[in-house]
Amino acid sequence: MTAELISVGTEILLGNITNTNARYLAEECAMLGLSCYYQVTVGDNEERLAGVMKTALERSDVVLISGGLGPTEDDLTKETLAKVLGRELYEDQKIRKDIENYFHKTGNRHMASNNLKQAQVIEGAVILDNPNGTAPGQLVRTEEGKIAVLMPGPPGEMIPMFRDKVKPYLESLTPGTLYSEMLRICGVGESSVAEMLKDIIDAQTNPTIAPYAKTGEVHLRITALAPDQETGKAMVAPVVDQIRGRLGDHIYTTKDETMEEHLIRLLQEKQMTITTAESCTGGLLAGTLINVSGASDVFHQGFITYDNQVKHRVLGVKEETLRQFGAVSRQCAQEMAEGAARAAGADAAISVTGIAGPGGGTDEKPVGLVYIGCYVRGKVTVEECHFSGNRQKVRELTVKRAMNRMRLCLEQ
Ligand code: ATP
Ligand code: MG
Repeated sequence: MTAELISVGTEILLGNITNTNARYLAEECAMLGLSCYYQVTVGDNEERLAGVMKTALERSDVVLISGGLGPTEDDLTKETLAKVLGRELYEDQKIRKDIENYFHKTGNRHMASNNLKQAQVIEGAVILDNPNGTAPGQLVRTEEGKIAVLMPGPPGEMIPMFRDKVKPYLESLTPGTLYSEMLRICGVGESSVAEMLKDIIDAQTNPTIAPYAKTGEVHLRITALAPDQETGKAMVAPVVDQIRGRLGDHIYTTKDETMEEHLIRLLQEKQMTITTAESCTGGLLAGTLINVSGASDVFHQGFITYDNQVKHRVLGVKEETLRQFGAVSRQCAQEMAEGAARAAGADAAISVTGIAGPGGGTDEKPVGLVYIGCYVRGKVTVEECHFSGNRQKVRELTVKRAMNRMRLCLEQ
């Protein structure tokens, strides 16, 4: 089955907002096994909107439309779809009541008569409740067996509606059920992963293997179409084993967790504390770890030691080391990690020193050169990394790699 996305809104066309709905829906379609060949963005213009709806309903089986369900004049998605399908609109009494109640509940907001426009339903449509707003969604099956779904534009309304109402319906249309697992990989790039798995990926039919490139990571989704979840799981398992055989400990998790969640969990399991000593990342590493709820169990203190004087005074990096090797050096990273662990009384420490750019690089020490030190109970290892990208990118890649380095040290 094929799917097509229509994002309605002049704001999207003008670049005022990012089309995150399309991103979300495209990923969901892929997971549902729907082939998405077209995504169209169109402004709040009846004629052009009618044009893209007609085209979509001719060439795709499922058409997911978001935006333009609101109460104002320029919200005309529903009216336009009704015209394209040659169907009437009628006022649904339950929705009218829901809207009145919504305004009553939220108190201070005045309900304009315009809001009742949202109680209008296309003949034959299934109504999709919207507990997060006033505009309900609608799902219509056309005479030709095509499916058109209308959803509100705000992601906080669209996503729960899709997840709770539309997705189960779409799942019921596909034969069997989809079972999938995600492998999260760090330390090798997307092209290397593709190369290492080329024969497996080339031979894939069911289960399928889909790679996603993320900042400093690659995710692989393995999806089986099976009669039931148990069978799906049994089909995915040997593929996961095969991939694990090739990628080894580059795979940091098969759970639904981020690198920082994984690292914090590891430390909690081992009942170890950690600290950070950051130069070029300036707190980004500590901030990323603290993003995880429960991080306070293992993380009590971090250091931002940007200036050489501070590296010496706070972490005890030797002046001689700074003079002889410079702040961006293997030796400095090592002493930073040791000094941080000592100063914080922590079991583990990650240190980061590098050149994030755009200035400050030399032939010998180019922009993107970063040393990452990992101290674990008396033992320090230092990794030399070469990243490319702008300042922010280099800093983000450094943080990811630093967490990965530490989890590898802890998993040994
Ligand atoms: P409302 O009742 O809020 O008017 P609506 O269904 O009419 O909802 P729009 O008017 O098209 O939706 O968009 C309302 C807001 O929702 C936009 O200002 C934007 O913040 C967000 N939004 C709309 N479409 C998208 C999209 N494709 N991706 C991300 N956000 C979106
Ligand atoms: Mg609107």
